[in-house]
Amino acid sequence: MLQGKRGLVMGVANERSIAWGIARACAGAGAELAFTYQGAAFGERLAPLAASVGSDFMVDVDVTDDASLDRAFAALSARWDRLDFLIHAVAFSDKTELTGRFLNTSRANFKNSLDISCYSLVEVARRAHPMMGPGGSIITLTYQGSNRVTPFYNVMGVAKAALEAAVRYLANDLGPDGIRVNAISPGPMKTLAGAAIGGARKTFKHTEMNAPLRSNATLEAVGGTAVYLISDAGAFTTGEVIRVDGGYHVLGMPQPENI
Ligand code: NAD
Repeated sequence: MLQGKRGLVMGVANERSIAWGIARACAGAGAELAFTYQGAAFGERLAPLAASVGSDFMVDVDVTDDASLDRAFAALSARWDRLDFLIHAVAFSDKTELTGRFLNTSRANFKNSLDISCYSLVEVARRAHPMMGPGGSIITLTYQGSNRVTPFYNVMGVAKAALEAAVRYLANDLGPDGIRVNAISPGPMKTLAGAAIGGARKTFKHTEMNAPLRSNATLEAVGGTAVYLISDAGAFTTGEVIRVDGGYHVLGMPQPENI
């Protein structure tokens, strides 16, 4: 489904990363991939993964550092004459504020969380835009803590709400150029970022026990959704938040057997 398409994947920390699930699915569907990583240690983990999908194209990017973003997109345009898709799977918040009350969120962590987890999408979309043409697809990752309170998700919920709004505004800006912008919203997944949220194991178990499909999303499921959104099959979907959460979001209460 993605034969001949070229994509940049941001946010692979290890083989459990959602970005890695997406990268693997895209490569399996025929796409050619480039990666960004955050710092040398993540770069070492990424190298064998990238090689396993036939890519040697890796650039060090900290999304709070404009110069590193400029270098990455300069390297990308030197190597490729166009970009068909971009995966933004980047988020961060101080772990000490992903527990306890939202009320205690500090100004510094609020700004940093929104900068890395939301504003960075705007920065990368603006840089990717000149390399993209009709059929281009930008995908970010969100979570239902954006519109429903999930204990301890705290400032990340606010960041994801802002991110989903940014998806809609970017979709409207880039739509006339044929570029689509969407978010995938998986349920809880066992990743580095997921583990940083207070009570992560309980949240994971709760959704697994109560979601209509009685399962949390897999990397393959999220990857498959990304392939659809990038491919021509998703050609008329933009500005959307697509849930890959086993149906958890439709519930009004837990399953009776779990009460
Ligand atoms: P992960 O820890 O594997 O990936 C997070 C990535 O963000 C890492 O690669 C990290 O290097 C990168 N990152 C953080 N700060 C950065 C910075 N300043 N510059 C560049 N990169 C930076 O965890 P994940 O769960 O795969 O997270 C990917 C995305 O999926 C995030 O947006 C996350 O909020 C979202 N998400 C996760 C879950 C979950 O339960 N794990 C559920 C829904 C959505």
